[in-house]
Amino acid sequence: MLVDQHSYTELRKLLQFGETTCVHLVNEYLQNIHAKNPKLNALLSVYEQGALDQAAEVDQKIKQGNAGKLAGMVVSIKDVLCYKDHPLQCGSEILDNFHSQFTATAVQRLLDEDAIIIGRNNCDEFAMGSSNENSAFGAVVNEDGENRVPGGSSGGSAVAVQANMCAVSLGTDTGGSVRQPASFTGIVGLKPTYSRISRHGLAAYASTFDCVGVLAKNVEDVALVMEVIAGADEYDSTVSQQPVPTYSQQLNAEPKSSLVYFKEVLEGEGLQPEVKEAFVSKLEELKKAGHQVTEMSFPLLDYALSTYYILTMAEASSNLSRYDGVRYGYRSENANNLESMYKKSRAEGFGEEVKKRILVGTAVLSASYHDAYYLKAQKARRLIQDGLNEILNDHDFILMPTAPTTAFEIGSKTDNQMEMYLADLFTVPASVAGVPAISVPMGRDQEGMSIGLQILSKPFSEDKLLSFSHSLLDQ
Ligand code: GLN
Repeated sequence: MLVDQHSYTELRKLLQFGETTCVHLVNEYLQNIHAKNPKLNALLSVYEQGALDQAAEVDQKIKQGNAGKLAGMVVSIKDVLCYKDHPLQCGSEILDNFHSQFTATAVQRLLDEDAIIIGRNNCDEFAMGSSNENSAFGAVVNEDGENRVPGGSSGGSAVAVQANMCAVSLGTDTGGSVRQPASFTGIVGLKPTYSRISRHGLAAYASTFDCVGVLAKNVEDVALVMEVIAGADEYDSTVSQQPVPTYSQQLNAEPKSSLVYFKEVLEGEGLQPEVKEAFVSKLEELKKAGHQVTEMSFPLLDYALSTYYILTMAEASSNLSRYDGVRYGYRSENANNLESMYKKSRAEGFGEEVKKRILVGTAVLSASYHDAYYLKAQKARRLIQDGLNEILNDHDFILMPTAPTTAFEIGSKTDNQMEMYLADLFTVPASVAGVPAISVPMGRDQEGMSIGLQILSKPFSEDKLLSFSHSLLDQ
């Protein structure tokens, strides 16, 4: 099938030369979805008719010569991004039967350029998780191993791309949710600079961390999507006004770069030996290719995980207070007064992980613990941010494995919260600092599971990040 062999950028050429049609491509993706989704569980909704209708319209536009930049790009979207009149559940029962009343800016911009939305991706409930086992709709399965997790929380997005159910997926990344699943499924995942893409229409988890991110099989497609969805938006007062480069036109630069890695990363106990080997040999390869590679110490790395979890749980406890049984979705039938309706709706509608985070978040914000936890974590955040930015001012990129291990077995970490959180060890620093970071594949372990290389760069230097990644991969 065409869609199994070609990137969007290649398919677009075939469309342009009349060698295929959008309707044909959508049918191929649908064939993959029907064959694979029952087992992989990557899509919660498939917009079969909607996608076919859109495809027919775009085919007309291509014939007339007025099709948009992403004509015929088939996209799936994580279940935390609004798409008007389509279901939105954030992987949760608390949003049972809820339909979006408007479309997220990032999604709207895709539609405006004639991308085709094929479905809604499974994810961890309210994007809280590292394995996609926290979804109210069941775990997502990694196509590379039937007992392996795909990573989380954008696990459905990653698998939909991995299994050719779509060309590109929009995920979200608060602490690694685009990069870590990209790493576990052997694809590319970009978390841009915080505020690079509007959060309008993204159901909030932790607002000072949340970023829309892009998952695809190659850097070119990510670049193309980024230049369409990034930039100023009147619906989000926090989004950056900085102009958006045409990333996809700037992928050819191949300067020699100054690269840094942290010795603490290599010394960490939980680092899977094959991940370490792949990373060390990647560093060697880069040195040989003429890049400057410097080892540095970054002791603050140890504090990134606790800083991240304290702050995100605090923000989540506030953001999720809106799900009260009154305004959205699920309402308990066992309540006999207003207060018990709030309590029971929330107790019955939210899953265990979400409830745990709301409770911890409420505790760290409470008068007696605020200074000891929340305030302290804010200070630690600033130190980590300043520390990383200082390094990135003197060097082009910081490199580390995307995750300490490859995709683990389903169920293997669900009883050990600390181990699960450790899966985010290397992705949270960029989130705490708000800097852009990408995961690109760098080999496989002995069991065939993919290993990801993570690259961090200065705020708003996605152009450089993408062209460096492109030089590693696509050429
Ligand atoms: N695994 C992290 C968490 O559970 C990251 C999630 C995310 O980026 N949305 O918070």
